Amino acid sequence: DISLSPRVNSVKPSKTVAITDHATALVQAGIPVIRLAAGEPDFDTPAVIAEAGINAIREGYTRYTPNAGTLELRTAICHKLKEENGISYTPDQILVSNGAKQSIIQAVLAVCSPGDEVIIPAPYWVSYPEMARLADATPVILPTRISENFLLDPKLLESKITEKSRLLILCSPSNPTGSVYPKKLLERFAEIVAKHPRLLVLSDEMYEHIIYAPATHTSFASLPGMWERTLTVNGFSKAFAMTGWRLGYIAGPKHFVAACNKIQSQYTSGASSISQKAGVAALGLGYAGGEAVSTMVKAFRERRDFLVKSLGELEGVKISEPQGAFYLFIDFSSYYGIEAEGFGKIENSESLCRYLLDRAQVALVPGDAFGDDTCVRISYAASLTTLQAAFERIKKALISLR
Ligand code: PLP
Repeated sequence: DISLSPRVNSVKPSKTVAITDHATALVQAGIPVIRLAAGEPDFDTPAVIAEAGINAIREGYTRYTPNAGTLELRTAICHKLKEENGISYTPDQILVSNGAKQSIIQAVLAVCSPGDEVIIPAPYWVSYPEMARLADATPVILPTRISENFLLDPKLLESKITEKSRLLILCSPSNPTGSVYPKKLLERFAEIVAKHPRLLVLSDEMYEHIIYAPATHTSFASLPGMWERTLTVNGFSKAFAMTGWRLGYIAGPKHFVAACNKIQSQYTSGASSISQKAGVAALGLGYAGGEAVSTMVKAFRERRDFLVKSLGELEGVKISEPQGAFYLFIDFSSYYGIEAEGFGKIENSESLCRYLLDRAQVALVPGDAFGDDTCVRISYAASLTTLQAAFERIKKALISLR
């Protein structure tokens, strides 16, 4: 009997992972695909951080740590959250995990009962709805518009809250749109959340440091009355170019964090001891990651500017200029319905991405993976030269459609 559980059958595999793997296989087969699908900085981990990991191994710091993470790292995280985000936590209100992805699924599993609703603004990070399903909860997707910079309308939020609403997931700066929620808008959400005592907020702040002035980051938990209602998630993968170290964390009221800790104790135990030492070094780089991080952010900004300008000049393309993260979520839907010679009809974001992979040899992710079929996601975690080459290829492939 090869049947699988209903839990597995209800979950979709991650499309970003699937496309990245497919593009990598093409490259390995000798096809020169430009890969702009992955959500991963193209930089190496800053040397001081990497050294701290190497030293940890040399010094025999290679055993299990406490399940919640080392006191040293949790103390450093508390300090960071106080200094940079204006939120006070004690180490017992922090849980370190093997990546922020684990922090989020554990939180969803810890607070949602079967049938609860998880409110997710779209475009969303691919994993949120699937995580809700894994917890037997129901994802409630709230669409946003490119003309409103993909920001959730508070009136729509208010109209969709029911007695079953348990969790609102906010992601700012956003993957996949790069939108950053202004403080004023978050304050409106806070007023709404305050009226619904059962509703919690999971604030995914993974891209906090990758933000382009004048945009600024606001932690939802720092808003009046929201500390008790918020689970703050952050990590090291993006800002510190540490995707392979697998290190993330959640901060929140002890009651909830202890529940996540219990789940983790039966799943994976604590994060890697080596990565945790590296994490301490990362937080030691200074405010917002110091120069090591600001150098990377500067490069991301140049790339964003290049893509927004050049792609913006193409016919029939709509762009909302991203204020953070390293993605561009572009509306190419004016190309849908067109018949491409020797390929067939471009019907949606999926077929447009297949077309671009086939004709332009550029790998992008279809927007339908993020709950918005009008767009595709370009990750600009690649050198300017690579992006210039990708742009020329995309341009040529699109022009041949007109
Ligand atoms: N949250 C968002 C919005 C992300 O884009 C990612 C990574 O793709 C994560 C969380 C998880 O990151 P990690 O598990 O590498 O810490």
